[in-house]
Formats: sequence, structure tokens, C-alpha cells
Amino acid sequence: MTGVIPDPVLETRVYSFPMRTRFRGIDVRDGVLLRGPAGWGEFSPFWDYDVEESRRWWAAAVEAATVGWPAPVRDSVPVNVTVPTVDAERAHAIASASGCRTAKVKVAEPGQTEADDLARVEAVRDALGPGGAIRVDANAAWDIDTAAARIRALDAAVGLEYVEQPCPTLPELAALRRRIDVRVAVDEGVRRSDDPLAVDLREAGDVVVLKVQPLGGVRAALRVAEAHGLPCVVSSALESSVGIAAGVALAAALPELPFACGLATVALFTDDVTSAPLLPVDGALPVVRPEPDRIDAVAADDGTAARWAARVAAVSAA
Ligand SMILES: [Mg+2]
Repeated sequence: MTGVIPDPVLETRVYSFPMRTRFRGIDVRDGVLLRGPAGWGEFSPFWDYDVEESRRWWAAAVEAATVGWPAPVRDSVPVNVTVPTVDAERAHAIASASGCRTAKVKVAEPGQTEADDLARVEAVRDALGPGGAIRVDANAAWDIDTAAARIRALDAAVGLEYVEQPCPTLPELAALRRRIDVRVAVDEGVRRSDDPLAVDLREAGDVVVLKVQPLGGVRAALRVAEAHGLPCVVSSALESSVGIAAGVALAAALPELPFACGLATVALFTDDVTSAPLLPVDGALPVVRPEPDRIDAVAADDGTAARWAARVAAVSAA
């Protein structure tokens, strides 16, 4: 990466590799790794995030590289397999191959039907068996009436552990919550708010989704967990294993961890920055910090590196 490296970062490297399946509208994942006195951090806001919103992502990367993370209270973190909006056959294969007992199934993708979603969750139920847990994530795609109908149908078909961000706003989530029996998890409603500490979730959610980069670091996310006093799930922002390690550190430091975490997303990539990727074994991840020993093999081209240098310069400016 060219450009000025902000103090106290010692080194920055840019990675890029393709996704196995299109996810969150992206086919290629890229981002910056920064090395500091405490190790490697990751800065990888999606390209649709502006400078202002990316500042918290930068703070998370700087925390990892300069001061590291609080001490863990557990040495392994249970995780869910993440199933993209693929067809039923592929969904079954992904869930089966994961070794996880919990699945997060993406639903409500534009261009797909209610029948597509139903077939996908039924295939995942078949793969996990009756003892597995299934949650769905609608990424704020539904209005209240659609959400109520779809969630009731999916819950009747397979049984849902919770539904993640079914509607866009907190008032909508509160209204929906009075109409369904399934727990509501709040994701975008916390991490994309101006002040994740101050949002009032009392009527809107049963579970808080914590993501390290969007919330500004492990310590900032721990403060969000404490402020809301609700059960928390840690999910990734689709980072490489270097960024996933920060999510694992957060999950390992939370006083309570009642649900499997959405940190097994390296499986969605065709490659990784390390030869020891954070992939689940028996449905859990170890609490470790992988070395990015494959960073040369997955280095981004000069054009991509230059675009990331500009983003780093923008977010790290005072
Ligand atoms: Mg989500």
C-alpha cells in the first residue's frame, strides 16, 4: 500500500480474494491489515460505507494493532454456520459440511421468493437434525406485516431460535415483536445508529448483535453489551481471519455467551490471509490470533491498494 502510514501503525498490507458465493452484494472481499506493537488488526469497511461511518472500523483496527484485547473468560467460542441465499441443495451441503449445531440462514434476498426461503431453511433443518438451532437474518428487508407472516411460517416449518433485524427501524421491530413469539435480534439497529450505547432497545429486541469493527473495537462493543443488559451474539463483518480473531476475543471476553456466534464466515471465502484460518472444529473456534503468513499470496493489485490507502488516509486524519 502506498501513502503515509499513520502513527503508531508499523506496516499496512492490502488483501483481496473472491467469495465462494455472492454475499451481501459482494463477490470479492478486500481490506487492510495493519501491524502495530500489539499485533495485526484489520480495517475493512465495505465500499458503500463513507468516511464518517468507517471511523469506528478504523478504531477497531488500531485497538487490535496497538493495545490488543481484554483477557478472555473462555478458551473456545461456539459458532454458527452462515448459509447465504443459495438454493436448498447447496444450503443443505453448506450446513452439513460445517460441523456446526447452529445455522444462521439468510432470507429475504431481493429477487427471491417466500418459497425459496422456506425451501432453504427446511434443507438446513434436514441437515442439522431436530437438535440443531436455526436463526434467520432478513437484513431489514421486510415491513411489519410481511415480517409477521414470514416469521410465523418459517417458525411453524422449522422452529426459529430468533430472527435477526427483520424490519429496518426500532419502532417497527417493537411493533412486530408484539405480534410474534420468536425472539428478535437487533443488528443494523445498533451498529448503524449514531450512538450504539444510547439506542433504546427495551421494546425492540431480545438479543443484541455485536460486531467489532462497526462498533469501534472490542472494548467499545463490551460497553454496548453492558449498556443494554440483553443477551449478546457476536457476528463478523465478513473479515479475514485476522479480523475474525477480534470477534473471537470479544466473544471470549463477554461475561455471558448464551448463543453460538456468527464468526464462521471465513468459510464463505475462497482464500484467507493465513495458512491457519479460523474455521470451526466441532462447531467452535479457538481463542487465538492467526499470523497473516499468506498476505503475499493474497495481496491486492496496485489499483485496489491505492484505493485502500486513500481510505486509510481519510479515516486516520484528525
Ligand atoms: Mg445481520
